[in-house]
Amino acid sequence: MGAGHRCTSVRGCNRPILPPVGCRRKGANWWRGDAFRCKWSADDVFSSRSAYQLLFEGTTKLPGAPHIWHSFASMKFRLHAWLALRWRFWSADHLIRHGMAANAICRLCSAADDTLNHLSLAFPFAVQVWAGVIHTVHSQLHLPNAELEEWWPTAVNALPAARRKEANSLIMLILRSIWIERNERIFNDRCTSASRVINAIVDEWNSWMQCRGG
Ligand SMILES: [Zn+2]
Repeated sequence: MGAGHRCTSVRGCNRPILPPVGCRRKGANWWRGDAFRCKWSADDVFSSRSAYQLLFEGTTKLPGAPHIWHSFASMKFRLHAWLALRWRFWSADHLIRHGMAANAICRLCSAADDTLNHLSLAFPFAVQVWAGVIHTVHSQLHLPNAELEEWWPTAVNALPAARRKEANSLIMLILRSIWIERNERIFNDRCTSASRVINAIVDEWNSWMQCRGG
């Protein structure tokens, strides 16, 4: 028995702690004591930060995701933007990637591949809408000039901090409005002019700003 090693786990117990069966260490040397080590901290000491690191170990970061949350748009706009950033809409490239039949060329302009980026940012109708709305309500925001996940953070981070929340919200409003119009054209064969869509977005935007007291 290792001299002096007694139970301290239960108040008043104090029973002798015996070496485990088969332990070959002599005398009191069998006892090395217990120590809690947190392998997620560089100094082995537990912290809430290390626990959160463990919780999110293995996750991948979604570019642009922080901008979705730094906004005052309602959840349907945020959800649309989240799906767009993850390329989860059923554009032709997405269908083909999943082994489904689809015409790879955009059915609306026949000038480019039918991708989410083309339909949301680069399709001629989309270009008109982005330019019209941004020129009207947020002229400091740069027009889309790259893929969504690249352009969005770059354009918003170039703005003064006080205007970023507003810009994120506006981007989500435009993205969803263009997608709805795209669906109307493809599935319902109904076409609204760019100027009418721009006016509808600006009206919606003005009502958002009124709700915020702007
Ligand atoms: Zn097109």
